[in-house]
Amino acid sequence: MDLLNHSKKLLKLFSDADKIVLICHINPDGDAIGSMLALYYYLISKNKNVEMVSPNYLQDFLLWMDGAEKVNIFLKRRKKCYKFVEEADLIVMVDFNQPDRLGEIEEAVKLSKAYKVVIDHHVNPSQGADYLVSLPSRCATAEIIYDLVTNMEGKPFENIPYAEAVYVGIITDTGSFDFGSYDGHTLRVVAELLDFGVDKEKIRLKVYNNFSSERMRLMGFALDQRMVILNEYSTAYIYLSKEDLLGYNHVKGDTEGFVNLPLEIKDVEFSVLFMEKTDLIKLSFRSKNNFPVNEFAEKYFGGGGHKNAAGGEFKGSLYDAIESFSKFVAIDNPCSNKKAEE
Ligand code: 5GP
Ligand code: MN
Repeated sequence: MDLLNHSKKLLKLFSDADKIVLICHINPDGDAIGSMLALYYYLISKNKNVEMVSPNYLQDFLLWMDGAEKVNIFLKRRKKCYKFVEEADLIVMVDFNQPDRLGEIEEAVKLSKAYKVVIDHHVNPSQGADYLVSLPSRCATAEIIYDLVTNMEGKPFENIPYAEAVYVGIITDTGSFDFGSYDGHTLRVVAELLDFGVDKEKIRLKVYNNFSSERMRLMGFALDQRMVILNEYSTAYIYLSKEDLLGYNHVKGDTEGFVNLPLEIKDVEFSVLFMEKTDLIKLSFRSKNNFPVNEFAEKYFGGGGHKNAAGGEFKGSLYDAIESFSKFVAIDNPCSNKKAEE
């Protein structure tokens, strides 16, 4: 279905709904929060009753955003969030393609009688929604929301918190127009956002130049002491234990972007970050060129994402995660992939 028809359908769903709940994915990034806030500002301008829910806490670099304080954190307000989900007649989920990305609230969403919509840009969306807006060719879910809202309104919705939220979604998911995922349409959307008065310098400073000195030192430590390069597989990985993180007073969001750094090395095409969390190891994957990290993440670590940016999890110790990964990457890596293509 094309965007215009999606917009017509959503317009009807929104006008019929009394209680709307917006939900983003666990460990929300700039696009998840940007998409949710953009939709929130649009819907409240239509006098809708809207609540926002995030499965867990927001990263520090997103807390400045208008409306961030209105996001209900499930880990903090379980009862309230369950009530919202239970009583909603429309639930809109943004920026994810697999229901397990809802974390602990997945079951409640499944049980809710609400009509469920997913708006997303990841490949291979899994079923579960009553209505799916899936556009994997778009660089960010926030860009899709912008196009949908523009169609619903018949013209761009000129509202600064809305425009800033869309802008944050786009710059964070494209690495500030560094990744190959954006196109001319993205830049036309951004041009409109800037024309409305989005303060790009303010946002750049808040999103990218707002870290603690400890985070800079942690980055230096990670690159110097915790980066392993596997030349034969064009692969590099960084691992950080709980102890490493504690030593640098780590806060949520501090390791954002670390996984991209090894790709700056000439022959490294596949980069992985292992982070030890309380009860699991979180893995982030990035690649250059054609190595599909979403397939690697799905096959070996129950995850997913995009071709060049994905994530997954491992239950067990950091050591075992690295050992398992080492086995998998010996079979499946950018070099073996190229050989198979020849
Ligand atoms: P990041 O490495 O920045 O956490 O995530 C990169 C991309 O992979 C994002 O598009 C994110 O949605 C996806 N992703 C990260 N972790 C997971 C996961 O555990 N499962 C799935 N399905 N996708 C993930
Ligand atoms: Mn996204």
